[in-house]
Formats: sequence, structure tokens, C-alpha cells
Amino acid sequence: MIDVEKIRRDFPILGREVYGKPLVYFDNAATTQKPRCVIDSISEAYCNENANVHRGIHFLSQHATDLMESARDKVRQFIGAGSTEEIIFTRGTTESINLLASSFSRAFLNKGDEVIISGMEHHSNIVPWQIQSEIHGFKIKVIPVLDNGELDLEAFKTLISDKTRLVSITHVSNVLGTVNPVAEIITEAHSHGIPVAVDGAQSVPHIKVNVQELGADFYAFSGHKIYGPTGIGVLYGRKELLEQMPPYQGGGEMIKRVTFEKTTYNELPYKFEAGTPDYVGSIALAKALDYVQSIGIDNIAGYESELCNYAIERLNSIPDIRIIGNAGHRSAVVSFLVGNIYPSDMGTLLDRLGIAVRTGHHCAEPLMDRMGIPGTVRASFAFYNTKAEIDTLVAGIERVRKMF
Ligand code: PLP
Repeated sequence: MIDVEKIRRDFPILGREVYGKPLVYFDNAATTQKPRCVIDSISEAYCNENANVHRGIHFLSQHATDLMESARDKVRQFIGAGSTEEIIFTRGTTESINLLASSFSRAFLNKGDEVIISGMEHHSNIVPWQIQSEIHGFKIKVIPVLDNGELDLEAFKTLISDKTRLVSITHVSNVLGTVNPVAEIITEAHSHGIPVAVDGAQSVPHIKVNVQELGADFYAFSGHKIYGPTGIGVLYGRKELLEQMPPYQGGGEMIKRVTFEKTTYNELPYKFEAGTPDYVGSIALAKALDYVQSIGIDNIAGYESELCNYAIERLNSIPDIRIIGNAGHRSAVVSFLVGNIYPSDMGTLLDRLGIAVRTGHHCAEPLMDRMGIPGTVRASFAFYNTKAEIDTLVAGIERVRKMF
């Protein structure tokens, strides 16, 4: 079970005030706050462990390398990957998908081929494919979103053709909270021999993810959304596929041998990690994953689902509220609009009450167009949030509503 008061004491920032009011932080889908153990691990790394990794014979370099490589193994274990060769450190989900789009396209995509994405993707799972499609001439097809915020799986089946080379979809929508049935989508795609990439930015922090059980061929997530530091993220890729894909960037670390005539590339995963990696970030990410495991991902999922249901129930008591997305299976995100109040007005006034929510298109403009709205107010939850904070949010919305 979750002991919220104890957990909250692990997060120094949760004790602060904003405009003289206790901070109510409901912007967890954008980034999560950091527990003391993660903050301490960054300080410890620079105070005691710092040296560039992988290329030093001296004690500190080897020590930092060991810490970074054990962090890689922690990530492997956390997402249930088979081998550390399949865990590539990146700057975050965005870089993971850009790496994938660039490298996968060069290896496997030609003019006339097709990549399927969905209508609820974050821009970071749309634009990298558009950039590559301009270079390689493949087509992007889009799985439609139903009115309730679920994907139209029947339409998905009809989009698959003998030209489909990849399906790339989000596990959890950062706007609607919809948990997509990725296992089902993967099974369908695999029955046609098509690999599937999953954007796990909003899933890994909230629900149990096992890439091998899901059958995902690629899986991306960001450290900062799972209580780790900014600037570190992960791309999991199946070894057989990664081995056939060319490097994303060139430089130190990713080579075996360089001559002016020809360069040979390093083995996995280093082939995809050019330059000095953010080893401090990797080490702190491993600490964050340890912290999450100490609470238990199933406990987290259960508690957050309770919070989310409570929030929906309380929000529904507000006249004129419209909750956007009503999927059967959802995660810790609620998007809404109240009457004709513009989301940014609502967000600004809630902010004055110490309540941090996000407003706007949430980097999902095509989804906003599909829903026929310019943006939403989004409250997104973490295991350190409380029902009392949701009550504060609801009271705040009521107050703002009365001002309009
Ligand atoms: N994908 C989804 C579903 C997201 O919610 C986000 C961030 O909000 C991203 C990708 C991009 O993550 P990052 O900015 O950490 O690279």
C-alpha cells in the first residue's frame, strides 16, 4: 500500500509554497518531481565518482563506467528486456524516437513504404517520421481516434497493407490518459510480420511494462517523467533489428576503428551512443527506478487509478465541465474544459492558488483538431498526490468559474 505522507517527505519540492499557498503539483505528465535519493545521487556522482566513462584506465573512470553499466542493467531489468545490448541511453523519448526514425528509415524504408502511427501521438512520434518521410519517400498512415478517446482498432486493421514496414504508437495518451491495447496491436502487426515501436513516455512511470511480454520491438521513455533527472532517456530495441540499423550520430564511443578510408562501428548498444554519455543521468535514473520499485509499480498503478477515478468523479460535479476522453482503460491524466473559459485563463488563475496544471495543446495538435478543441486543461497525477489536493483543485475551478 501507499503511505503518501511518508512518500511526500522524500520529495523536498513538495514542501514549498507558491504565491503563499501550498504547492499542488498536477503537472506530472510534463515532468515529475525528484525524490531526495535521486538528487543526492547527482551530488554524490559529482562529489565522489566523476570521470569520463568507457575510455579510462584509471580508478574513477572505471568506477563511473561500472555505475553507468549497472544503471543500464537496472533499466533492462525494469522494463524486462533480455539484454543490456538492447538498452540505448538517449536524452529522452524525443531523442529515442528521432534515433529510431532516422536509423530505421535508412535501414528499412523506401519510397512507397508505409509507417502507421495514431491520431493521439505526441508531436515527438509524428514529426520525426515526417522528417524521414521527406528524405525516404515513405507514407505515413494514421489510426483514427474514436469520440471516447480510444483508438479505432478496426480501422487499424484496414490500414495494414503489404507496404507497411512499422507501426509506431503511444502506450498511454498524454492528453486523454487512454491506455492503448498495445499487446493486441503488436499481435496484429506481428501477424503481418510488421515490427512495432511504442512511445512509453506516459506508461513506464505508471503501469508495469515488460517489453518482452508485450512483444514490443522498440520502446522509448524519458527519465524525467519517472522521477529521474532531465536529459536522460532510453530506447529499447530488439537486438536483431538494432544490429541491422546504422548509427544515428557519429563521433567517439560509437566506433571500433576509424581511418579516413573507412570506419567500422562499435557493438551494441555503443554503436548508438556517440560522444560522452550522460553517465550521471544514467546513474540517477537507476536510483529513480530503485525508488519506484521500492514502492511497487502495482501499488503505484492502483493508487493512481484511485486518484484518477476520484478526480473524474469530483470534476464531474462541476457544472459545464467537459472531460475530454473517456476510455475504458485509462492512466493518471485528466483533460477538461469548463464552459467557455479558455484553458490558459483557467491555468493562470489556478496557478495563483498554488495549483500547477498544464494548458494548451500538449504537443498533440492533430488530436486537438480531431476533438475540435484548441486545447485543454490537464491535471496529471503521481503517487505523491492526494485526494485532498484534488479537492483543492475542484474548489479552485469552482472559484475560477464564478469569476467568469
Ligand atoms: N511522448 C509522450 C506521450 C509524451 O507525453 C512526451 C512528453 O510529454 C514525449 C513523448 C516527449 O518526451 P520528452 O520531452 O521527455 O522527450
